[in-house]
Amino acid sequence: MATRPPDTAPLQASRLQSPYGSVLDLVGQTPVVELKKFDTGPCRLFVKLESQNPGGSIKDRIALSMVADAERRGVLAPGGTIVEATAGNTGLGLAQVGIPKGYRIILVVPDKMSREKVQHLRALGAEVRLTRSDVLKGHPEYYQDMAERIAAGTPGAFYANQFANPANPLAHETTTGPEIWRQLDGDVDAVVVGVGSGGTLTGLGRFFAKVSPKTEIILADPAGSVLAPYIKTGELGEAGSWTVEGIGEDFIPPNADLSLVAKAYSVPDRQSMAAARELLSKEGILAGSSSGTLLAAALRYCREQRTPKRVVTLVCDSGNKYLSKVFDDFWLAEQGLSEREQHGDLRDLVA
Ligand code: PMP
Repeated sequence: MATRPPDTAPLQASRLQSPYGSVLDLVGQTPVVELKKFDTGPCRLFVKLESQNPGGSIKDRIALSMVADAERRGVLAPGGTIVEATAGNTGLGLAQVGIPKGYRIILVVPDKMSREKVQHLRALGAEVRLTRSDVLKGHPEYYQDMAERIAAGTPGAFYANQFANPANPLAHETTTGPEIWRQLDGDVDAVVVGVGSGGTLTGLGRFFAKVSPKTEIILADPAGSVLAPYIKTGELGEAGSWTVEGIGEDFIPPNADLSLVAKAYSVPDRQSMAAARELLSKEGILAGSSSGTLLAAALRYCREQRTPKRVVTLVCDSGNKYLSKVFDDFWLAEQGLSEREQHGDLRDLVA
């Protein structure tokens, strides 16, 4: 009997069907991998590789749903312009969906975001307006306020506004959630998520509340963000700054239903970076900084449990966008985020 060649064995059958009509047909249906090389206490920890979406991140899903919804509602028409405030990934998704359809894409991106993301956006044909990362909501150069202003002043513009657009959480409620549920055989004790726009949290929270009320939604938040402290104390404090990209907020986005969160962890940048690097060195998974935050919180949650649990988290995007940051020893040392920097070796080299 013929045996299956080993290199095709891990491919999902659904990816082996006859040719797809467009790369956008490959959005979603991302694989789940169990992490076996980490100390997960009594728990089993799984990661869903959203980095395998064609645009390289979890945001492909919402780009598809927000554009389709806007077209359906008639607020985006041929020849129109899509405007968005983005850490980069939503912009990549929107450009991937919108440029082949002939839309003009204008993206307002805070200047702390990686050079690779900005280069990728420009290569896709999007117009990128970089703005300050060090200002808060209400400041004219704040990226969301700027995007809203540009949209208001551009005829035929649609402001996607992932922070308040209901098509964002809906994409996760109808695709990401059901996929996780099926892939984990209908047995999920906890899902660990971050909040940028809140779409993932709210979509997954709504889905699991319906099918599996025992499933806890756990928030992984960068230290400096206001969200985890708000959940713990009920007080909305002042935001600090953090280096992780794509998650953490200085306000509560309308799309983030924090009442769905069972427990929240604040994760210092140093731990997020170390976790992302360990995910690569231990498991061979190249993930971005926000995935490091999620993994660090998921590991803390797992190790705190007294009974076996099945826990899942996300690899939101790929680390190849952060090779010059998270995976660069010199950059980490310059930022004071190196594990080794405590011992002085890399500091000395950089000085
Ligand atoms: N990780 C990364 C890298 C992101 O860009 C984002 C979104 N900005 C998220 C996580 C957070 O997802 P959400 O917007 O659904 O809260």
